Amino acid sequence: MRPNIGAVRQAEKPSNSPALQRRLAAPELLRRRRVARSLIVWFARNSRDLPWRRTHDPYAIWISEIMLQQTQVKTVIPYFERWMRQLPTLAAFARARPQKVLKLWEGLGYYSRVRHAQAAAQVIMRRHGGRFPRNFDDILALPGIGRYTAGAISSIAFNQPAPILDGNVIRVLSRIFGVEGNPRDKQTNATLWQLARDLVSIDPARCSDLNQSLMELGALVCTPRQMKCAVCPVRKFCFALREDRLAEFPMRPPRAPATERRFMAFVARKQNRFLVRQRLGGAVNAHLWEFPNVEIAVKEEKDGKDNKHRAFQIAQARPICRIRHSITRHRILLEAYHARAAGETPGVWKTIPQLKHLPFVSAHRKILAILARDAFMAVH
Ligand code: SF4
Repeated sequence: MRPNIGAVRQAEKPSNSPALQRRLAAPELLRRRRVARSLIVWFARNSRDLPWRRTHDPYAIWISEIMLQQTQVKTVIPYFERWMRQLPTLAAFARARPQKVLKLWEGLGYYSRVRHAQAAAQVIMRRHGGRFPRNFDDILALPGIGRYTAGAISSIAFNQPAPILDGNVIRVLSRIFGVEGNPRDKQTNATLWQLARDLVSIDPARCSDLNQSLMELGALVCTPRQMKCAVCPVRKFCFALREDRLAEFPMRPPRAPATERRFMAFVARKQNRFLVRQRLGGAVNAHLWEFPNVEIAVKEEKDGKDNKHRAFQIAQARPICRIRHSITRHRILLEAYHARAAGETPGVWKTIPQLKHLPFVSAHRKILAILARDAFMAVH
């Protein structure tokens, strides 16, 4: 199929079967209908019972979709349930204190998602009278909502045949239809959107199930590695399986090599209070809390020129903990040390119970957990 590159906006508008019939040859149309039908039947029998699938409330569906970006379902479930208990309505979310919102999001990462979401909730209160907009373009115009999320809300909450395309759907469609090329390239991406649009248009009454079946197949069966082709509902139609080219789809350019980075965090204590600071707006993880820390450049460390942390004196050579984590292609080692603040240092002094109420950067929350555990052990 020739990709419809010039119709990106058009792609959000649902086509219908007569339009598909005009554009696609009969065998290809029949194949897509069978793919769509197989997916819908499979989804009815195999979909997981997830809390956001028990509702058609667009607010709940929107929150679940934002949480699920870059995050696994099993991680999201307790976050989602706690969120809906504490901020059960769009109005409650719109007026919530930003620190409360960050605390509810603490640990999910990519905090700009939730900041944009709260801005969107406030726009809905102001411009749409507190009712979640049903129109696709109105949803897409909200802060932080892209084509995928707008399509997911339109189809799942309002049963409108809008396509979706995320990592799972890209993988599934690339393999079934043998879509060659990097999915991020404009032409390949347009081809994938067109396929997603064709499938969701085949039976507009079942568009919610169709979109969710693509997501679910990508999560449970057509996974990045160790795909379960033997139980896949579309194996009869799958190009990658037929051609024995499973590892080739979706095609990706080679990854940039990972960068090693090292940070030192300083745990300064005054009686039962610890020094912490809040990240500035505009920084990564803006407005979250952390222990004072510096990045140690590998070269400086080797040359013995590491004097960036002169505001603190290390009190014990052995670190409290070493925490390894990754952010995109950065492999980060964070070492936390007991330290003495040398003179006036920016930040605030707080007790452990007070710190537990603040939204912390994930790696620093682990340091806090160790301090809390040690404090507990000291009195028991
Ligand atoms: S047959 Fe295998 S590769 Fe093809 S869609 Fe199913 S799980 Fe994915």
